[in-house]
Amino acid sequence: MVTEIHFSVHVPREIYDEMVAHVLAGYPNEACGALGSQGELVVKNYPTDNAAEQPDDFSIISDTDIVRIYNDIDKYDGDMIYYHSHPQSEAYPSARDIDWAKRSGYLYIIFSLQYQPKPPYARVFKIDAAGSVTEGVIAIDE
Ligand SMILES: [Zn+2]
Repeated sequence: MVTEIHFSVHVPREIYDEMVAHVLAGYPNEACGALGSQGELVVKNYPTDNAAEQPDDFSIISDTDIVRIYNDIDKYDGDMIYYHSHPQSEAYPSARDIDWAKRSGYLYIIFSLQYQPKPPYARVFKIDAAGSVTEGVIAIDE
């Protein structure tokens, strides 16, 4: 269950719009990518291919892409945020998402496209090693 809101992620409007375009382009499959952040501020977007075997059901960034992204984020001592889309369901981590997230420790931003043609919307979650989910706030900086 979602407990309380006590963290936020600031996404520049330009990057947020790129993420929306990326998840729309992936529809009806899940789309995924990573963000590099410094503190609460997102500074870079890394849209990737979805390497999952069933991309309509799950999303995975390939090892090759992950290594490339990590190396780049290291250059500015940033942190990685993972983002992906749920084409048909709520922007909330699935059981499988939680299982992956609790090992990775990344923040998770999830877009839902369930109300198309209305625009996708996003939520952000922190998932701890025990699998408990905390929701934060996404602030879009104009
Ligand atoms: Zn998911």
